[in-house]
Amino acid sequence: MASRVLRIGLIPGDGIGKEVIPAGRRILEALPASLGLKFEFVDLKAGFETFEQTGAALPDKTVEVLKTECDGALFGAVSSPTTPRAGYSSPIVGLRKKLDLYANVRPVKSVGSKNPIDMVIVRENTEDLYVKEEKTYEGPNGKVAEAIKRISERASTRIATMAGEIALRRQKIRESGAPSIHKGPLVTITHKSNVLSQTDGLFRQASKAALAAEKFKSVAVEEQIVDSMVYKLFRQPEAYDVIVAPNLYGDILSDGAAALVGSLGLVPSANVGDGFAMGEPCHGSAPDIMGQNIANPIATLRSAAVMLEFLNEEKAAAMIYAAVDANLEEGKLLSPDLGGKATTEEVVADILKRL
Ligand code: ATP
Ligand code: MG
Repeated sequence: MASRVLRIGLIPGDGIGKEVIPAGRRILEALPASLGLKFEFVDLKAGFETFEQTGAALPDKTVEVLKTECDGALFGAVSSPTTPRAGYSSPIVGLRKKLDLYANVRPVKSVGSKNPIDMVIVRENTEDLYVKEEKTYEGPNGKVAEAIKRISERASTRIATMAGEIALRRQKIRESGAPSIHKGPLVTITHKSNVLSQTDGLFRQASKAALAAEKFKSVAVEEQIVDSMVYKLFRQPEAYDVIVAPNLYGDILSDGAAALVGSLGLVPSANVGDGFAMGEPCHGSAPDIMGQNIANPIATLRSAAVMLEFLNEEKAAAMIYAAVDANLEEGKLLSPDLGGKATTEEVVADILKRL
């Protein structure tokens, strides 16, 4: 059988990143040979420990190897210094910029039938208030601070297009017989164009235009003002399939949605650009539980699956999701954040067995 080789950069980072990224590697290695997939792994450095050792939180070599050699990556977590340190800046923000990973994709899904939730939040990752162009000046009545909110047609179009493609892909998986709470593909565009008619107005207009393309004719498109979106997200989360949002609203919505399904240790994400995907658990480096072998590896295992989806290996991704769901549904080997007693190692072993 023809086999595809995928080269994956592994960036454990700090804290529990070092405990969960090896689990991500193991699940990729444990995928059945019948999928025709081979993995090569490259260990790469980034994070606060790297900063202390080398003076750079994101060494050039890490960026270079990811750019020139890798198809995808798994990123653990990095600690931030508690007091600002000269020369330190967040490696994940640097990676998103340098690799043009313009989308942050966060699937949020419940397991079991009580309060079913199955949505994907697609957050624009390059602009909006995150251009970080701020200034403070003395006004006639005292200090004033301002920030630029930049929205471009190009970035809005490509993020909405990605949301549409994700909706179509999810529909295809449903049609192949996977159980789902959704009947058809739906994209919800989130904005606040009633107040910000130019910036959010452009996001809204460009998103609608992108989703009006012929290839998305089977996708239902709706829009929601972000405040009412939050209300509905908590009252009726089952109503959402794919949500697309500018950077800041997407950030807030995705943490809010993660709270709907319980532990941070369960929620995956991926940073996606054209032809590259980097899986990243939503949690941080969790210094309070590091080194105890109790970190929940599921967010990372699911992040490996999201990465595979964007590398067009949906079948492999589905197998990982199913193995994780089976572990959670049975509920016998759960880590302490889910009320269980199992170690990281035991959870990983149980999920690998189910694979
Ligand atoms: P950072 O500054 O790196 O974000 P943090 O102190 O904010 O670190 P988080 O990683 O954001 O810590 O975690 C917040 C809380 O959730 C912590 O109490 C942590 O122990 C818990 N937590 C996070 N990830 C996991 C996980 N994978 N398994 C179990 N508990 C977790
Ligand atoms: Mg945190």
